Amino acid sequence: MKLLEVKNVKKSFDDLEVLKDISLEVSEGQVVSILGPSGSGKSTLLRCMSMLETVDGGTLTYCGKTAVKDAKYATKSELKEIKSYFSLVFQSFNLFPHYSVMKNICDAPIHVMKRDKEEVAKSAEVLLKKMGLDSKADYYPYQLSGGQQQRVAIARALNMKPKMLFFDEPTSALDPELTAEILKVLKELAEEKMTMVIVTHEIAFARSISDHVVFMDGGVIVEQGAPADVIDNPSNDRTRAFLKKLE
Ligand code: ADP
Ligand code: MG
Repeated sequence: MKLLEVKNVKKSFDDLEVLKDISLEVSEGQVVSILGPSGSGKSTLLRCMSMLETVDGGTLTYCGKTAVKDAKYATKSELKEIKSYFSLVFQSFNLFPHYSVMKNICDAPIHVMKRDKEEVAKSAEVLLKKMGLDSKADYYPYQLSGGQQQRVAIARALNMKPKMLFFDEPTSALDPELTAEILKVLKELAEEKMTMVIVTHEIAFARSISDHVVFMDGGVIVEQGAPADVIDNPSNDRTRAFLKKLE
């Protein structure tokens, strides 16, 4: 089943065309990685997919439901339903600094999604345990390492019970040691068949975890396909040049 279909998406900031004609699909249980140089439009694409930015053209369809077509968005109530299908994990964690770990994880499910407080708290406990943070429920973000903060952010995203997770360079603010910690969590989620779209510069990781790899440059998808093709055997010069620089 297709969980996400991006078709001919376009996005400009004033005169700058940042996304030119982006099309990709994500099926249930798949991990899709997005690679590409800085400024190629990866974050903008994730922000458009998460509806933090509006698109200027094209179609976004989630689980068969159209969120936007030719720049016309669905109704508020339809969008509310669609937005419950996904969560985004940011590069810089974006936790609420004045909320405890527990409150960070429970706030949106209780106050935005109106779910039962006890049920939300219970699932938060399970998620904290899974993230190895069960002793940190009452801590505040500033008392945690970057890796721990990012694990809280992942627990927060999971506690929304999304059908898919989007990650924007989830390890780029972290030291190598803490990066490994987060990559391990992502690997476990992939093994559990969580559907994920991950923007990353960790090529070896993308190679090992992805079902599908997308390479972006200059606001277009230059190349996409199986990791064995795009990463090991790229057909495009720009992909080859980018991968060579990272070696
Ligand atoms: P990436 O994540 O691949 O590094 P971005 O999507 O962040 O790329 O940025 C793509 C281009 O869009 C860059 O040239 C950036 O400066 C520009 N851009 C991103 N967000 C905005 C914005 N809110 N206003 C104006 N320009 C933006
Ligand atoms: Mg970015």
